[in-house]
Formats: sequence, structure tokens, C-alpha cells
Amino acid sequence: MKIVRYQINGDTPKYGWMLDDKIGEIQGSIFGEYRRREAKTPIADVKLAAPCEPSKIICVGRNYVEHAKELGNEVPKVPLLFLKPPSSIISSGENILLPPQSKQVEHEAELVVVIGKRARNITIENAKEYIFGYTIGNDVTARDLQKTDGQWTRAKGFDTFCSFGPWIDTDFDASDAVVTCRVNGQMRQMASTRDMVFNVTTLIAYISSIMTIEPGDIIFTGTPAGVGELKNGDVVDVEIEGLGKLSNPVKV
Ligand code: ZN
Repeated sequence: MKIVRYQINGDTPKYGWMLDDKIGEIQGSIFGEYRRREAKTPIADVKLAAPCEPSKIICVGRNYVEHAKELGNEVPKVPLLFLKPPSSIISSGENILLPPQSKQVEHEAELVVVIGKRARNITIENAKEYIFGYTIGNDVTARDLQKTDGQWTRAKGFDTFCSFGPWIDTDFDASDAVVTCRVNGQMRQMASTRDMVFNVTTLIAYISSIMTIEPGDIIFTGTPAGVGELKNGDVVDVEIEGLGKLSNPVKV
């Protein structure tokens, strides 16, 4: 099933499910008890919001060998984690805003895991049960500030630097999915998720040994090689084969 959050005429976003190009309201909690209304609202009549409301955005750095290399880094021995603030979230179609503090803002195409159940100290074997579904993400990064700051909060945390969506697919098989990034139609990144250093279940188990993960929390699983600059007027598309496409214009 494809889960969306959508707005009609600027109303508060509601959860819904999508069938072909139509949306039906979901009443109740998508992570618990809910009822699906008939899918009859055309997707063209709504604005899609980011498809869930995470309390935490947990990200993994250097999780593809070729990407670690391209920035002159070693592959970490255990997953390298950082957080992005929920205030940085935008949905597909919204503008990525280039902040005046940075001269080098870059795209990072990523598979994103959505957590469905509270998780603490779970094993790799059990981790699958905690996955609600998958979506597509762009972990926008001010590369110059990432290098100068050491800590990544500023470089990764600007408003509009966390694009994800357009929906969550609860049935997607993410074990060998092709992730691509195009800027103005030109290919920049392409790799399969099977090339991840630490796979999804390993990541969930590891993160849950540190912090309680809540339903709706999302995990950005790292970006393949080919990261590059975004300029005013660009359009950046992150696509995962079989899952969908996330598209954002870039503006100053
Ligand atoms: Zn990233």
C-alpha cells in the first residue's frame, strides 16, 4: 500500500492511501488501528505533504564504499550516525533553499526507511518487523560547512535540507533497488542498495541499541557516489526504481 499525507485547499494535512492516481482518507493511526475510505480524490486535486511526521530523522554517513572514497574518507567500522532536525523537512515539489552561509550545497540521493513500531535493543533478526515501509530522500548537505565544522548539525540542518516522499510504500522490497539522482535531467548518482556497507536491518538494530526509535521516525541509509553541487534554478530528482520519484526545485 502507498501511504501519503495530503492537503486540500491548504487545510491541515491528512493521511491517505493511494490507488493508481486517486487518494482515499485514512482515519485513525497509520501505525495502529485505522480505516480506509474509498480512494476517489484525484491526486491532481491535492498537495502532497511529506508522508509522515518523524520525531527523529536519523542518518547514516559513508554507507557506500565509492562515496566514502570520493570524499577521501575511510568506510566506518560501525555505522556513522547523525541527526537532521524535523524543521528541515520539505515534501516533493517544494523548494530547496540555498542558505547564504554556504557556497557548496550538494544533493545526496538515499533510500529512506520508515519505522512502524517502537524499537529499543532489537536484534538484526527481528529488525524487519519494525519496518513500516520505504520512501525516497534527499539529504541536502552544505559540504563546505560539513568540512569546516567537524560536527555536521549546521551543514545538514538548514530548513529545506530534508526532502522525502512523495509517499511511503509498505510493500517495497528494498534489498536490491536502484537509486538515482538527476540534476536538470543529467545523471549524477546511480547505485543499488545492495552496495550498502551496513544493510537496513543492521542499521535498525544498531540504532536501537543507542536510542528508542518511534513509529514514524525515518532513517536515511546513506548516499552512493556522485554527490555534486546544486545551483539556483536547478531541479533535482531522486528516483528509486519501483518506488517513485522525489523532485525539488532549487532556489536562493
Ligand atoms: Zn546522506
